[in-house]
Amino acid sequence: MDREGDRGDCAEELKRCRIERELDREHISQLEKLLNHDPDTGLLQRHILTRRMNNLIQEGKTPFAFGILRLDKNYQRIRHTRDRMKVLLYVTTTRLKPIVGEDNLYQSDRSDEFLFVLPGIEEEREVERIINTMISKVAEPHNPPASDLTFGCNVGVALYPRHASSLDELEMNAEIALGIYEEKSWNGFIYSPEIGHTHYANQTLECLLRKCILNNFEGFHVAYQPIVDGDKNVIACEALMRWDAPGTGAVSPGKFIPLAENSGLIIYLGKWILYKALRQIKKWREEYNSRIQVSVNLSPSQLEQRDFVDTILTALDVLKVPGEALHLELTERAVMENPGDITEKLKKLQKRGIEIMLDDFGTGYSSLSALNNFPINTLKIAKEFVDVLPGNRDGLEMIRVIMSISRTFSFTALAEGIETQEQFDILIEEGCQYIQGYITSPPLGATEFEDRFLY
Ligand code: C2E
Ligand code: CA
Repeated sequence: MDREGDRGDCAEELKRCRIERELDREHISQLEKLLNHDPDTGLLQRHILTRRMNNLIQEGKTPFAFGILRLDKNYQRIRHTRDRMKVLLYVTTTRLKPIVGEDNLYQSDRSDEFLFVLPGIEEEREVERIINTMISKVAEPHNPPASDLTFGCNVGVALYPRHASSLDELEMNAEIALGIYEEKSWNGFIYSPEIGHTHYANQTLECLLRKCILNNFEGFHVAYQPIVDGDKNVIACEALMRWDAPGTGAVSPGKFIPLAENSGLIIYLGKWILYKALRQIKKWREEYNSRIQVSVNLSPSQLEQRDFVDTILTALDVLKVPGEALHLELTERAVMENPGDITEKLKKLQKRGIEIMLDDFGTGYSSLSALNNFPINTLKIAKEFVDVLPGNRDGLEMIRVIMSISRTFSFTALAEGIETQEQFDILIEEGCQYIQGYITSPPLGATEFEDRFLY
């Protein structure tokens, strides 16, 4: 906003000078510089790039490529420490300029974003090479005052005229390619009709998702998958979201959960499943005089909510469910990317008896010291380590390493995705306390779960 304000003032001043025919050339050229260049990076601003690309098109100087490079989340962390941010942006600019050409790099309206044009380029392989060089250069370590952080970036590129017949379309398609990257957590992509198709299909599905949520969670229900001990007694269950979209049929969570996460809708869905699962577990505990517990998955953005702890504790209070009936499953990534703030939040939850589980353990990048410091009760061993059993020595070694970590830090271990008796036996033999997987049952509707596992 400040930048926009400064640019506005500058433009006004320039207009006044011209109107009043002031002959102070130096003053005018200074104002022009301020108006057209970003103060932190010295790069020309987006509107100059738009003018340049328009000229390229009008003068028939095509083909060319247009790209967007966006710094990743680590940049957001230092956004408010102005000195570090300035150094980072300046250094990144000097790293990128030689790759795309001194005059081809521009500043976007967003401070975390660079734009570039590659005149005369139409070979996708050539663009790919340039993108990869940019990505690895941005990721190189920094000197103080930003040396404690490493940064990544995402890049989206579209080619003119192959991917667009107008400048608007070109910019939009580069943005779509960038968005696809972010979703898949890849680092860079060149637009293609397939990417465009996926983008519009996702947009349509997201609209339907929003409509159904507003329409009292139309088509949503919860499936429960049993979690058993070494004697195959059901001691808990995982609540998993299901969506039968009207007119479309069942949409897999692997598809709609990322859409809900990217659009912020996961906050509503997360609260909905929390209340559903707690009501269900209260009913089962009372009706069957059982101590069964329920696991609910949490997305990273739920943890970032300021009232995250209150939301969960209020749900327990309102429904009169004891904390020990609830487990919360968090991914390694969510916990490790959110460290400072999250420890206290999780401790508050643990104080109420809620167990904290690290989901898909082994696929992220938890450091041993982080594991030691975080308030975690259980490691859920990722399915991919189980899938290779039996018969894979490396897989078995991985399980042993995870079990040794689990014993060292006094965590409970739960293996998921167990499909065969052999896998079950190996995990129990290695000291894993709890098992979840098709060997006992796939996730089931509440009534079916009740019929099969509660008596
Ligand atoms: P997850 O938390 O790792 O859940 C386990 C997934 O593995 C479930 O897939 C489950 O059906 C599947 N599964 C369990 N046992 C077996 C097995 O023996 N073999 C095989 N092949 N698969 C097994 P599902 O239900 O499709 O869920 C996929 C992912 O969607 C979940 O992975 C979780 O990350 C996400 N998800 C589901 N419900 C929720 C929710 O309520 N909130 C959030 N934030 N994420 C959810
Ligand atoms: Ca889970």
